[in-house]
Amino acid sequence: MIGKFYLALFVVTLSSLACVRIDLSPPPVARPLPVAAPLPTPALWPTPLPQPTATPPPIFVAIAPGPPACLQPNLATGEHISASGSYTETERLASTPMLCHLERDSCGYNQLVGILDPTLKFKQEETPPFDTEDFLMHPAMILPLTRLNHLVQTEWGGAFQLRITDAYDSLLEHDPPESEPSTRYSLHYEGRAIDLTLWPVDQSQYGRLCTLAHCAGFDWVLNEGTHCHASIRAESLCLDCQNQGSK
Ligand SMILES: [Zn+2]
Repeated sequence: MIGKFYLALFVVTLSSLACVRIDLSPPPVARPLPVAAPLPTPALWPTPLPQPTATPPPIFVAIAPGPPACLQPNLATGEHISASGSYTETERLASTPMLCHLERDSCGYNQLVGILDPTLKFKQEETPPFDTEDFLMHPAMILPLTRLNHLVQTEWGGAFQLRITDAYDSLLEHDPPESEPSTRYSLHYEGRAIDLTLWPVDQSQYGRLCTLAHCAGFDWVLNEGTHCHASIRAESLCLDCQNQGSK
């Protein structure tokens, strides 16, 4: 019985082996790898010597020459300074004397100019129509006033504005009210003087403000404590209109 089983198993095994396909073809012959063509011998270029790193040329930026720094000491209260740097020269010498009272609507008055720079403050304390007189001044005032405005903005970085409390004055209010009007004397009456403060008001800074006014080109500057009075040496508009027979 067992012998028949093994016989059957042997037959089955033989039959299964008969199904295995045996590849009797000759083994593939290894093909020789293609021989790489010899690479062209690289031409030997002269090895460049390391060049020193070029230092970029310095760049010079043209800067427009600005006004020289204002190195004058602060002007003490009551102290004045002229264009020449004198602390004793009078306003009459530095800015030349007042020659007349320019009356409103006169020939000289009509040559006054107005300044409307929005960065400036104007006090305008007079009643209309005199409240516009703070804007009015001799044409030669414009340049030093514009310079001073820039100096103030640079000095305090915008913390203060330059304020004009008085310029031309037809009301002759720069003399005591009890004084005789015909003898009143001030360059404000010709539009050649201006009173300046800072805004917001800070009287502790006016010593410096007055010095900046001197550096800006005003010919005579006085620190009056409550403000800086500054005037210019320029041809009087009284003279300019003399030939026309008007003040
Ligand atoms: Zn004044």
